[in-house]
Amino acid sequence: MRYELMLPHQIRTAIADNWPVVLPLGVLEYHGEHMAVGMDTIAVVEALHLIEPELDLVILPPFYYGAASYAVEPPEGNGSLQVSGEKLFPFAQELFTSLLRVGFRNIHFFIHHQTENFTAGMPTDLAFKFAARQAIFAFLERERGEGWWGKGTMADYYAQHASGDDPFNWIKGHPLMRPEHMEGYPFDHAGIGETSLMLSMRPDAVDLPRLDDARWYTRSAKDASAELGDKGRDLILAELRRILSGRR
Ligand SMILES: [Zn+2]
Repeated sequence: MRYELMLPHQIRTAIADNWPVVLPLGVLEYHGEHMAVGMDTIAVVEALHLIEPELDLVILPPFYYGAASYAVEPPEGNGSLQVSGEKLFPFAQELFTSLLRVGFRNIHFFIHHQTENFTAGMPTDLAFKFAARQAIFAFLERERGEGWWGKGTMADYYAQHASGDDPFNWIKGHPLMRPEHMEGYPFDHAGIGETSLMLSMRPDAVDLPRLDDARWYTRSAKDASAELGDKGRDLILAELRRILSGRR
């Protein structure tokens, strides 16, 4: 369900049944002359909409205003919007705090931007990961008081940790495309991989005749196809299903 369309009784059901609550996270960034600037975020949004009919799932309104950076092209006339990680952090911290206060304990964010090295992190996902940690610590202290971790009721913390039940799993971040699950599907910026994905999921975000040869990172897009994109889409959906079908 889309969060903005939910009624309070539906929200209470989602809380009681521990439905995954998912934030599509991304940027608006230049993706060549042939593709829409929202590609990274649109990929997450479309994948979630495709999986939604199969699962009990809450989809939050997407957040497009991450740290695109100007590494690819300067913004003038090209469209990239850059909001720095240190500005994203307080926003994300309050958003996560609010979601915890509503009652959600199975919160996820998915991002498809600079995720080729997700473990080390990049500004957008690091800001949201850090914010998630800070929000959880502050929420637990507020709810349980200082010393909450040291109390006898927490004696099974490490067992809970192993079973995935501990509070630090209340909010998790994921890349949309984790290389080990993509079976060699091309990972690029505005090249054959991303362009094919859009041709499959959102063809109105691509205008292939506008592709030019000027930029190295878009050249492979000339071989993009909806058929290849369908393969990438299906690999993404399989991984989303795996992550979101469990109850925490
Ligand atoms: Zn991209």
